[in-house]
Amino acid sequence: MFHLEEVLENNKVRPTAMRLLVLHYLLNKKVTTSLTDVENHFEKSDRTTLYRTLKTFVENGIVHKIDDGTGVTKYALCEENCNCEIETDLHLHFHCTKCNETVCLTEYKIPMVSLPKGYIAENVNLVVKGTCDKCNET
Ligand SMILES: [Zn+2]
Ligand SMILES: [Zn+2]
Ligand SMILES: [Zn+2]
Repeated sequence: MFHLEEVLENNKVRPTAMRLLVLHYLLNKKVTTSLTDVENHFEKSDRTTLYRTLKTFVENGIVHKIDDGTGVTKYALCEENCNCEIETDLHLHFHCTKCNETVCLTEYKIPMVSLPKGYIAENVNLVVKGTCDKCNET
């Protein structure tokens, strides 16, 4: 269990009360989060502040964005020491069509794809769709 303030400081983000709260919230969620989820959780907070908080986290490699094909951007905490580099931080994402949740499968790395000469990859987004373990339990 790592210290929240340390996570922020290690990523050169000044720990403010709001940032710590949002980080704590993300840390306790097992699935990825949308901006709407965050807004609903922090009802009383200013929406712009919440959006900026997420944006700062993304820019500083604390959180990564996932496009799961639902049209809603999802956010998830990065692993420790993740620099969001394309070579090292490619893991699978899984979108469950039943419960509509998207999860990070951080243990499942995506091998670096080779591209034709002249092409430069900036982002790889691999989302597997199906039904998750919880939905398949019964
Ligand atoms: Zn990352
Ligand atoms: Zn599910
Ligand atoms: Zn992820």
